[in-house]
Amino acid sequence: MQRNERIAIIGAGIQGICSALYLQKKGFNVTLFDRDEPGNAASYGNAGHFSPYASLQLNRTDILSDVPAMLLSSRGPLALKWNYVPKMIPWFTKFIFNSSKSKMMHTAKYMHQILNLSLDAFDELFQEIDLDGLVENNGIIYVWEKKGLKSRDLEINIRKELGIDQQILTPKEIHDLEPNIKPFYHGGVFYKYARHARNPKKILIKLFENFLNKGGKFLKLNIQDLDFDEKKTCFKIRSAAIFI
Ligand SMILES: Cc1cc2nc3c(=O)[nH]c(=O)nc-3n(C[C@H](O)[C@H](O)[C@H](O)COP(=O)(O)OP(=O)(O)OC[C@H]3O[C@@H](n4cnc5c(N)ncnc54)[C@H](O)[C@@H]3O)c2cc1C
Repeated sequence: MQRNERIAIIGAGIQGICSALYLQKKGFNVTLFDRDEPGNAASYGNAGHFSPYASLQLNRTDILSDVPAMLLSSRGPLALKWNYVPKMIPWFTKFIFNSSKSKMMHTAKYMHQILNLSLDAFDELFQEIDLDGLVENNGIIYVWEKKGLKSRDLEINIRKELGIDQQILTPKEIHDLEPNIKPFYHGGVFYKYARHARNPKKILIKLFENFLNKGGKFLKLNIQDLDFDEKKTCFKIRSAAIFI
């Protein structure tokens, strides 16, 4: 059903474009704004995992005990500009405050509910474009180099508690699945339903073109100030008034 309401979305990354496509399905007229071309920010340079198992966020106390090892390792996932430390103290204090077991479980439970719908939601959008081999459906394996990381045990246990499908792997099972990986690992986990995007930006552009083909509009603008005028169905950006 076509609707009269018009919707403006700021940001033509994967979130903005997918939201725009779903809103079009509901009959809304949608305009996307971006200061850059679509898909040039985080949605361009990510690892391309479709990871519905990723319910656990970083607000957890156990990860704090892993931080020193992560910072000291040249191949660790964390780097810090030491002169930035004083500035980040207020943020870090809030982070610790939000890392209790109950807050962590609250986040994980609701993330799980949302992520559980994500593959079907992507499939609905992918039905309308030619994916052209851009998505691999072979599952994703994580392998562990170090033994005894507390955060890893916690993740496995919480995923089990939430009912997330995960297969813990022995070194032999990893070798059977991926014989080409050098055996530096002592274990791993396999999410067989997970997928991998060969090129996240190309997929995004195909979705964006579909949005335009369905009558969506795109305006390249850096939105810095919003001032809504409900009666005129417009909003002002600095001195210009945009009618959507
Ligand atoms: C290294 C790395 C690896 C990752 N790997 C994965 C992964 O494997 N799987 C996964 O699911 N996620 C991954 N992520 C996260 C994922 O990339 C992001 O969650 C996702 O791309 C965010 O999409 P987005 O549309 O919200 O943001 P973006 O893609 O960043 O889009 C935001 C858009 O808003 C625009 N914008 C911002 N401000 C304004 C303004 N004032 N006016 C106009 N336009 C504006 C920007 O130009 C940009 O185009 C990874 C992230 C990183 C950094």
